[in-house]
Amino acid sequence: MKVTAVTAMILRTNVTTPFTSARGWWYKTKNAMLVHVETDEGIDGWGEAYGPAECTKAVVDSLLSPLVIGQDPMDTDVIWEKMYQRIEDYAPQGFGVAAISAIDIALWDIKGKKFGVPVYKLLGGAFRSEVTPYATGLYFTFEEGDFITPAVEEAVKYKELGFKGIKMKIALNRKDEFERVKAVRDAVGNDVEIMVDANHGYSLYDAQYLARKFEPLDISWFEEPISAHDLNGYADLRTKTSIPLAGGENNFTRYAFKDIIEKRAMDIIQPDLCCCGGITEVMRISALAEVSGTTLMMHVWGSAVGLFAALNVMAALPPAPHSWKPAPVWMEYEQTESPFREKLVNEPVRRENGVVKIPSGPGLGFTINEEIINKYRVK
Ligand SMILES: [Mg+2]
Repeated sequence: MKVTAVTAMILRTNVTTPFTSARGWWYKTKNAMLVHVETDEGIDGWGEAYGPAECTKAVVDSLLSPLVIGQDPMDTDVIWEKMYQRIEDYAPQGFGVAAISAIDIALWDIKGKKFGVPVYKLLGGAFRSEVTPYATGLYFTFEEGDFITPAVEEAVKYKELGFKGIKMKIALNRKDEFERVKAVRDAVGNDVEIMVDANHGYSLYDAQYLARKFEPLDISWFEEPISAHDLNGYADLRTKTSIPLAGGENNFTRYAFKDIIEKRAMDIIQPDLCCCGGITEVMRISALAEVSGTTLMMHVWGSAVGLFAALNVMAALPPAPHSWKPAPVWMEYEQTESPFREKLVNEPVRRENGVVKIPSGPGLGFTINEEIINKYRVK
């Protein structure tokens, strides 16, 4: 089998209510940078890159696509190395790795379809048939005003929808943010897990203050309290709070995760398949995590393509440790409006009784909805 075409495309739609996290970057559109790989056997695959769409598309079009066309898509390790060698000197973090990720995911989709099995089978089989979604939300939608009431209302809505966990964005100054998180905890009670995500918007000093204040609120993890690249800062903060520290959506390849793990910087690493290097690379990162006692929980923020890929990997990640009554494997389930999460595939993910089943179709487990591609494709 040979790859005959690699097409990088951008889907874009306006959102009804722009929103921001602690970055202060207002999301006015939702984008998806998808890669479609075709072969001479008529089998095709889909992948996705996380990050600025025009940039990841440019890397695929100009650097990676010429390397992949003509290759046997079964050779995912060989192709991964070829692609990495091409970008290693200029973009070993960021856009370059995200572009590799999209192609790698598409190649795994093709491999699964070739054998008529889900990707998790090719990764060694499924350790689980379902995962537990948590709602990611409670973004900020205005500059000034009452930030507590909408946060409480949104959190209560997720609880009523049956979510067992809620990850809330935090961004306010440390005193106001403590009051906001406390109000959410008071509103949802103690039977819903709460995670907080600062999108690296705090100084070490503020993060330390907040972590100490959050401790009585039973926070399951503090995500990206500080810059993703200040690993010494994470290691310091870890010694000063009992709240587990999480991060990884802005770290790329096994090299970056090796540094995080060696510095004992995070309790939970959160590689995103669509930017950490794809399925090939996340399995290597998983091995590093397992032997170091670091918990791995996937970061998921894109379209259905990335979500289905993540579900296949979540099925195949070995339990660490094996235990009689394991903790739930959390699936990040982003809740801001997006036609690319629910409508892009003909078999959307369904949340029933608080869990999501691992898809069982060949490849990543979906067929693409061409209508959505045609409606939203801008490049
Ligand atoms: Mg995050």
